[in-house]
Amino acid sequence: MPLPAGVHWFSPTLPIHVFKARAEGPTAVVQAGIHGDEVAGVHALEELLEEEVRPSHGTLIVVPVMNPPAYRARLRMPIGGLDLNRCFPGDADAPERELRLARRFMDLMLDERPVLCLTLHESKKRFRPDIVPSFGQTLVYGVEPRPPVVDRVLSRLNERFTEDEESFDPLHYPVSTSSTEVTVQAVGCVGLCFETWMGFDEGRRIKMHKAVVELLLDDVGVRKL
Ligand SMILES: [Zn+2]
Repeated sequence: MPLPAGVHWFSPTLPIHVFKARAEGPTAVVQAGIHGDEVAGVHALEELLEEEVRPSHGTLIVVPVMNPPAYRARLRMPIGGLDLNRCFPGDADAPERELRLARRFMDLMLDERPVLCLTLHESKKRFRPDIVPSFGQTLVYGVEPRPPVVDRVLSRLNERFTEDEESFDPLHYPVSTSSTEVTVQAVGCVGLCFETWMGFDEGRRIKMHKAVVELLLDDVGVRKL
């Protein structure tokens, strides 16, 4: 069963914000902080929540910090922990916290059947086509052919971010145990990872994350601009 509107807690520090519009429409899920050292997406979602972001149609689900212990440590994963974004689809009976959390999140995705699952990431390396892997300033997708929404959103994003090195590229980079890719396979939605380059100051990166959320929600019809 889909969650009702409100804040639901996967743990005392892991809120799942569910907003429902009066008008019918699809469901979009936006999450950040699956890697604890990638803070701009976390702060962008917290700002959007403070600004009372709401869907105009359907359901918007916001998870600002997927892995609170990693975020507090400002590490990709907490010391002694697992990389949460390599734990999907997870295991409800596993001793590892990350595998149990991944399974809980997958069950949420199966209940909610989103059309979009967006994960906000950051990277120390700026993307260059000849450097593999490099992710900074990309919108990453895991399936071919490239979902058309990627090019539509990147062209709008690149109208807003025109300074040196700011422009964003599409990048095909499947990761079989990531939250987005496993969700795509299970639900058939569009799954994207947005990656900013940490070479920019945090305020600029937060603006980029807020912009991609706004543009993607507009494109899928959950929050029309
Ligand atoms: Zn990441």
